[in-house]
Parts: sequence; structure tokens; C-alpha cells
Amino acid sequence: MQRLWLGTFFGIILALVACLSLPVAAAEESRQTAGVILEIPEDARAGPAFDVAKATEAYIKLLDAEDRERSDSYMEGGYWLQLWGLLYGLGVAWLLLGTRLSARMRDLSERFGKRRWLHTFIYSMQYIVIGTVLSFPLAVYQGFVREHQYDLATQTFGAWMGDQLTGLLVGIVLGGLILTLIYGVIRKTRDNWWIWGTGVSVVFLIFVTFIAPVYIAPLFNDYKALEDGPIRTSIMSMATANGIPGDDVYWFDASRQTTRISANVSGAFGTTRISLNDNLLNRTSAEEIEAVMAHEMGHYVLNHSMKITTQFGLVLAFGYAFVAWGFNRAVNRWGMSWGVRDVGDTAGLPLFAALLSIYFFVATPITNGIVRIHEAEADNYAINVSRQPDGFARVAMRLSEYRKISPGPLERVIFYDHPSGRDRVYMSMLWKSEHQDSEPAK
Ligand SMILES: [Zn+2]
Repeated sequence: MQRLWLGTFFGIILALVACLSLPVAAAEESRQTAGVILEIPEDARAGPAFDVAKATEAYIKLLDAEDRERSDSYMEGGYWLQLWGLLYGLGVAWLLLGTRLSARMRDLSERFGKRRWLHTFIYSMQYIVIGTVLSFPLAVYQGFVREHQYDLATQTFGAWMGDQLTGLLVGIVLGGLILTLIYGVIRKTRDNWWIWGTGVSVVFLIFVTFIAPVYIAPLFNDYKALEDGPIRTSIMSMATANGIPGDDVYWFDASRQTTRISANVSGAFGTTRISLNDNLLNRTSAEEIEAVMAHEMGHYVLNHSMKITTQFGLVLAFGYAFVAWGFNRAVNRWGMSWGVRDVGDTAGLPLFAALLSIYFFVATPITNGIVRIHEAEADNYAINVSRQPDGFARVAMRLSEYRKISPGPLERVIFYDHPSGRDRVYMSMLWKSEHQDSEPAK
């Protein structure tokens, strides 16, 4: 939704809040707990003839040609959508500036009293609403039509629209808040605004992460503490053994929106919690659930949230520096015709957002790389803690419902924010090969 045009900034914020998640998309020995039994392909079974490459291939083969073609095409279409999203967003920015609509929105906001922060907030509200309306066609295609084409969505259009409107309201409140803060900083610190702006943005990001599980996530899904049973017992046992505080694991009704399997760690400080979705609970085996939950615990124990936020802050600082440079050049040339005075003038927000979008588009391999490195770390943690190489490999295969299983090297570096399915399966089979005599954690 807003992520398409709001200069990627909120997209990045929302993505970061959501990124610490291992979303998912299944073989002989096993225990049955969740209703689904873990099947291990013949060539991946432990024994003297165990071979890492053969075992990996045995898992990869679980994906038939048709499904593979489908997930490849879904993923590759997504690459192009990043480009179309950028171009669409630039078109929206050009429209707002070139028709002086943005200047008129600013003039309107200045009729409300004398306080500049209020002008900024009122301008921001108009910008977010008009931007959402203008980018609606692409949002419908990307978020609704395409998801249904690939059988990933479960919502009716009405229910989807309901979520969009909720998202818009959240966007108005949070977007209005951060824009008011950033424009306050720009006006106070002038040439150095990009440094202070980065600081304010990072603190804001931590604030959003802190409130998200309590105030934002429940607007879209129902969160409940997992009831007593073997799944909860094994998760709590791993949590206790790894120093993770809290008495509860949460589950939520993601099946109201999607068929995807996922879990996540959200929150910060007092609000941190680990949640898994109902698709994971209903569609996978106990071994897979343990592997996924251990991955999420890895994010928590290894303090990934703060590390990623800090590294992202560094990327953002360069982005703001680029905006500071590009904005002045563009306004010197076209400012008069757009009715934009300077970088502290809200009428220039479409230009600000456009420049930041271009920067983040170019920086995609860097932001994906930051996340991917942490994801690989959490994968390693997961397999060591859960000791479920087959659960891990199976769940990595399920994820290939919507992620290309074997990307090329360049594709991986540019577009992947998680290790690929093949890399994950290979890693778990390598672990299995080195731990042939060990038992699962529970
Ligand atoms: Zn993860």
C-alpha cells in the first residue's frame, strides 16, 4: 500500500518491522503432534550412505515442475514490480509537483493557525491520502489480483479493502508524526538536517517496533496465547533453555489474509514477543514448527532487531545526504514552476520522497544483504538449537511456494533478503551429515 509511493521510507519501516520473520510455504520416521507427519525423502535418510548433495536434491525434488515454474514466475514478477513501483511512484511525484497540486496542498495547510508543525501535519495527511488514491491501481494489482492469481491470498476484495483502510489510518498517524518530526529537524538544523534526520528516524523506527505488537498488529489479526499442548511445551522448553523471557508464545489468524506460513519476533524492550501463524500450526509438522521457532528465537537472542536498525540507520544517512544534495539542485532549477521554496517547505515532499525512492531502489542489494546475513545467522542458530535438520529442510521447501528455489548468484545478491531454499536445504543436510549420531533437542 503506502510503501509504493511514500518514498519507500515507510515501506522500509513496515518491512523492517515485518522482516524478522521466516515466512513459509513437506517425508518416514517421526512423531505426530500437530497432525502433519514429517516425511523424509528416501535419499535424505540418515545412514552410512548419507550424501549431502543427494539429500539436498531429494528435498528439492519435492517441488514438482509445475509448482517450481509458478514460484519462479511469482518471484521474478516481483523483481519487475520493484521497478514498476519506483516508476509509478516517480510519476505520482511528478504529477503532484508539475500540476502544483503539492503547492496548493501546502497553501491550504497554512490556513490552519500559525504553528508550523500543524501545517506540516495537515500537509502530510493530504499527501498520504492523495498518494494512496493515486497509487491505488498498482496496489490492487500487486496486493490483491496478483496474490489471488498465485493462490496466496484468501481474502475477498471487501475484506482486503478493509485492511487497506486500516493501513491508511495507521499511515496517516505514523506518517504524519514522522514527517512532522523530520520537517521540524530540517528547519532547525538546516544544512546538517540529514544527520539529525537520521537520528530522529532511527528513534522513530525503534518506537514503531516497540508499539507494533501491542497497537498495530492487532488491528489486522487476532493474537492469542498458544494453548497447552506438545507444541507449546517444546517451544517453551527451547525458549527457557536459551534465556528467552516471557511465559507465552502467541499465534495469530494469518489465514484470514494469506496461505503463507510464517512466524516472527516483534516488539522491543518490554513488548518483545514471538508469534507464529495458524498456517504454520495447521499445515506443518512439529519438527518444522520447532525449526521455525528456533529461527525466530535466534533473531531475538542474537539481538538482530537492534543490529538491523543500526545498520539500516547508516544506509538511511547516506540516503538523506543524497536527498539533501539532489533536492537543492532540483529546486534551483524547477522550484519556481513547482511552487517549492526550499527543503524545509512541505510542498517539496514529493521530490523528497522521489529522491529517497531512487536511492533505496539503487541500494536494494545493500538493504537485502543486511537482512540476508542476519537471516543466515538465525538459520544456523535454529538448526543448532532445534536439532531438526529435516524439519528445517522441509519448511524451506514449503517456502518455495512463493520464493524461487534456486536463484542465480546475481539474483541472490540483488533480490534475496533470506538465503534461498536450496541454500537452506543444503545447509541443513550438511548439518545432518555432521551430526548423524545426534538426537533432536526434544
Ligand atoms: Zn528470520
